[in-house]
Amino acid sequence: MTRCVLCGELDSGEYRCRCGGPLQLDHAVGSIVDESDVWSSHRDYFPYDVSKEESLGAGNTPLIKARGLSNRSGTNLYLKNETVNPTWSFKDRGTIMGVKRAMELGHERIGTVSTGNMAASVACYGAYNGLRTVVLVPGDISQGKLGQISIYGPEILGVHGDYGDLYYESLELDDIYFINSDDPYRIEGYKSIAFEIAQEIHATHVIIPTSSGGSFRGIVKGYEELLKNDIISHLPKFAAVQAQGCSPIKLAYEEDGQVKRWKDPNTVAKAISNPFPPSGDAVVNKLKELEGLCLAVDDHDILEAQISIARDGIYCQPASAVGVAAIPQLMDHIGRDSKVVSLITGSGMKVDVRSSNVDTVTLDGLRDRVSR
Ligand SMILES: *Cc1c(COP(=O)(O)O)cnc(C)c1O
Ligand SMILES: [Zn+2]
Repeated sequence: MTRCVLCGELDSGEYRCRCGGPLQLDHAVGSIVDESDVWSSHRDYFPYDVSKEESLGAGNTPLIKARGLSNRSGTNLYLKNETVNPTWSFKDRGTIMGVKRAMELGHERIGTVSTGNMAASVACYGAYNGLRTVVLVPGDISQGKLGQISIYGPEILGVHGDYGDLYYESLELDDIYFINSDDPYRIEGYKSIAFEIAQEIHATHVIIPTSSGGSFRGIVKGYEELLKNDIISHLPKFAAVQAQGCSPIKLAYEEDGQVKRWKDPNTVAKAISNPFPPSGDAVVNKLKELEGLCLAVDDHDILEAQISIARDGIYCQPASAVGVAAIPQLMDHIGRDSKVVSLITGSGMKVDVRSSNVDTVTLDGLRDRVSR
């Protein structure tokens, strides 16, 4: 049973509510069992059982203390390393549940609309489960991402036009079950991020790079379920961070209005550049309800943060660095004793926005060059 996040109507549509709002499953009730795998330890909290084999090893990612960044910012900063998922981003956590749903409904074809990471994820799990997969990607997608998507053998369609519109167009395509960014079952899978963090530390702040809003909704829902089941005593503060070059949620949050389409998205953080986020209003409402924070950071700061994160051990993509880039803006809210978690959403190996600086030297000149 799904419920509209905006109007509360029950089971009023397949993908979205008749009012246009995104759907959500009711809060789960249950207990946690002592297992090392999040899909098993929290099985009461997910709509489907997932074996370790079926998960392909998704989730259960490391939470590492960022030594350099913690020292420099004067707080305890933890990085949740989602780059180690099977297709190198957190999308796998949600794709698992979406694919389970598609198979339960008897679909043989699945699809997704993606800037790249979700396409790779859905194509991977589609291939593993013997489903035909169609992925719709922007016409200007990077070669790095295309290479990864195509190895799984889906039908790939590069679509020129507004990426925000593509989401709604896809829902009109019959015969294909679309597992998009804020699919209610995808969101169930994203709760696993909250479960894992809560099991390791009492985070005071959780920072989430935000585009469509699906991951934000999933992580917050996971925490809310832990609270309702008395597994934690209070929620952390949530911060949604966007790229300044495409920040429709931040704008709506500030103007206290509805999310409006962002004209001409322009940012290095391609993975979070949805100009018309389908869960945007849901995120704004949740931020207001929980007194969360909503921030935007510019490309310069994003690329600087990407370097800092690498020097603390993780090569992430620019979109994944926005949380760390926002930390100076968060300092009014963060103290020395805070435990701040920033979600490092995807691997840097997927995109090649940086030209590398390689000096060339002959063997003869080597000793000379390195001794300089
Ligand atoms: C999908 C994605 C995001 C944003 O997640 P949403 O659920 O769309 O808000 C952030 N970073 C990366 C690397 C992603 O792939
Ligand atoms: Zn509704």
